[in-house]
Amino acid sequence: MLLLEWRGDALNRVILGKRIMASPPVSQPQGSPITPVELTANSRFQFRCHPEIACFNACCKSIDLPLTPYDILRLKQRFGMTAGEFVGRYTVPFEMDAHGMPGLKMATKSDSEECIHLTEEGCGVYEDRPAACRYYALGNVGVRKKGSSEVEDAYFVVREPHCLGHEEPHKQTVAEYRREQGLIRYDEMNQRWRKLILKKRSAGSTVGAPSQRSFQLFDMCSYDLDSFRDFIQSPGFREHLEIEAEEMEELLRDEEQLLDFSLRFLAQVLFGGDAVKVRAGARERRIEERREVWQQRREHHVQEHQEALQQQQYGD
Ligand code: SF4
Ligand code: SF4
Repeated sequence: MLLLEWRGDALNRVILGKRIMASPPVSQPQGSPITPVELTANSRFQFRCHPEIACFNACCKSIDLPLTPYDILRLKQRFGMTAGEFVGRYTVPFEMDAHGMPGLKMATKSDSEECIHLTEEGCGVYEDRPAACRYYALGNVGVRKKGSSEVEDAYFVVREPHCLGHEEPHKQTVAEYRREQGLIRYDEMNQRWRKLILKKRSAGSTVGAPSQRSFQLFDMCSYDLDSFRDFIQSPGFREHLEIEAEEMEELLRDEEQLLDFSLRFLAQVLFGGDAVKVRAGARERRIEERREVWQQRREHHVQEHQEALQQQQYGD
């Protein structure tokens, strides 16, 4: 499974699919498994997967499966683990773009490309399997028109030779398939994150590479809800930002709400917004606190510059 993105003049897209060649459904290279027709929610397609099919589990034997924040939340809850424990045991890191935006993929077994959760009986985490596993053999495309903040969904069929589900005499609409696969909640929870990635990508070349701190924040807000929970209760956070007592209680009680809040907070830090109220005078206090650090940095840079000049003048 791959999370793919491409740009056209008018569109930015994020694709969620399973082991797909990196190509859009329009203008694809020969041999791509993507059927070059974009589907809408009401489009019908022929496909059925079931345990008696001859290829059962074939699609889990060679995976490349990026995970979304909601995938990780569901799976860590299933195992009764902290996010850190789940990530350490069942995922591998990768970079989602040339700037090094942190991503996580599902781990494979140590001696093969098989998904770590694949068992003789099938998927060992079926009720909490990731969104891309639910979508397969559909791919889901997030499409954002230039100048718009709305991400629209489009779909396409992924037709790989090993998958016999396309031969089964069963037709359904995309909307029916999404319902049957339990994708409604997954898509709701992943929507905010997808938008954020698209926004970062479309801004990428104009704003340059995000700082290391931005990536650390992205990593925590996306994949480590337990650390984020500690973070919003820390004195540093509460000194500058204000969460009503009732809302805080809800966030500490309900991890789905916490995830939604963490992504709203991340969007506010990266792009501006009003997910969290900034306390009166907090900005001024922050500037005051940082003033000494900035001064030290400036002096350090000046000294470095002077040393470089001296080296140039007298070095030889
Ligand atoms: S999580 Fe389950 S469905 Fe998804 S690749 Fe692994 S075994 Fe297959
Ligand atoms: S029909 Fe396709 S999706 Fe279902 S088990 Fe076979 S390869 Fe996997």
